Amino acid sequence: MGYRVLHIGVDDTDSKGGMCTTYVGAVARDRLLSLGLEEADYPSLVRLNPNCPFKTRGNAAVALHMRCPATLVDEAFKAVVEVVEELYERGYGDTQPGVAMRLGGSTPEELRGFAYRAVTELVELDEALNLAERHNIRIHRINGGRGVIGALAAVSYELGEHTFEAIAYRTRDNWGTVRRVDRQSVFEMDRITRGRTFDNVDYEAGEVRVTPHTPCPVLAGVRALTAEDALRGLGMIRFLEPVERVVVYRTNQATDKHLTARRIEELKPYVNAVVEGVVSSRPSTIKGGHVFFKLSDGTGEVVCAAYEPTKTLKKIAKQLIPGDRVKAMGGVKPKPEGLTLNLEKLEILELAELTVEKPPVCESCNRTMKSRGRGRGYECWGCGSVKGDAERRIVKLERGVRPGIYEAAASARRHLSKPLELCIRGVKRGGGEGSACYD
Ligand SMILES: [Zn+2]
Repeated sequence: MGYRVLHIGVDDTDSKGGMCTTYVGAVARDRLLSLGLEEADYPSLVRLNPNCPFKTRGNAAVALHMRCPATLVDEAFKAVVEVVEELYERGYGDTQPGVAMRLGGSTPEELRGFAYRAVTELVELDEALNLAERHNIRIHRINGGRGVIGALAAVSYELGEHTFEAIAYRTRDNWGTVRRVDRQSVFEMDRITRGRTFDNVDYEAGEVRVTPHTPCPVLAGVRALTAEDALRGLGMIRFLEPVERVVVYRTNQATDKHLTARRIEELKPYVNAVVEGVVSSRPSTIKGGHVFFKLSDGTGEVVCAAYEPTKTLKKIAKQLIPGDRVKAMGGVKPKPEGLTLNLEKLEILELAELTVEKPPVCESCNRTMKSRGRGRGYECWGCGSVKGDAERRIVKLERGVRPGIYEAAASARRHLSKPLELCIRGVKRGGGEGSACYD
């Protein structure tokens, strides 16, 4: 009996009110295992463009990778569609589930390119439908089925550099209630597994980050560099309610894979970008504490925004001056004033000199001379000697910032953003180099 490898992707099953596409993936996986399929690889959790205007929450799509007896291929697809039909959030026009199934082998270049763009910019449903038809990808659309975009991307995405997340799900009777998780055990787990797991606790805010705040089925998720570490971390958390099931996803979370180097003239709404340039205006702070400055790179000028919740980033941005050379990283939004780059990270490459003009000093009296009025030079009040305007001193001031890379506060961070603690350690992870922060 022949086997086929199936890649089945699912997306857009949740709403702001509940559900979670990773849960739908977890249930579908168990359904396929009970049908007699075997897992060919960890399921993938692919975070798509975090800057997409249609996303519900984390913009996550999943893909299952299974070895399937050739005679069961149709049944497997049907089983996944059934799970999606059972679980997706009904009654929300915005929830448009999609399923896509790709059979075996390596991923065609065209599909890989599509998946890459689904993570870094905006792609259209029409393109996904076209590609699916050309490459014999079986699809299922519900309620319009915009989720086919993410489903197709999930079965086509090359997870080069990656991390893992072990997720525990709640039993249905507990959905929507307060999660009963022993906080102390999370701090303890973080202390013991630090360096292998990440994003467990936001110490600045004193907040546990493994549990979401939405009414979705996720009880807790532990992010780590390997599957073993993710499971080990999850196993160290004390849960005070039943766990329905656990799944380990391989994911592009914390890899910065949404960021691409772009010139300002190439920026379009909803792309994610790394722009290198020179600060071209003094930062201004508006009500609410949001900081804005302009950046030029010779091809154009763009407004960069560091919003209040980014904390450190906002404080750093506030101290920039024209002439500073920086790399600005984040998502591009259309605003009435033009395109704005919402900062996720900021690297200061080179600081401009900050100077002030001071009156000259009288050599005979060793005292600072006084101005005689605009354009009329300076006079010493001790001996009456006079100096011209050209003899004023230029004094260099200390800058309040240092070159280096800065990131948004953990609570304002995107799932795709690589935490600096991972960048700085330059940890090598499964499947790729993990040193640079944004390439
Ligand atoms: Zn004098």
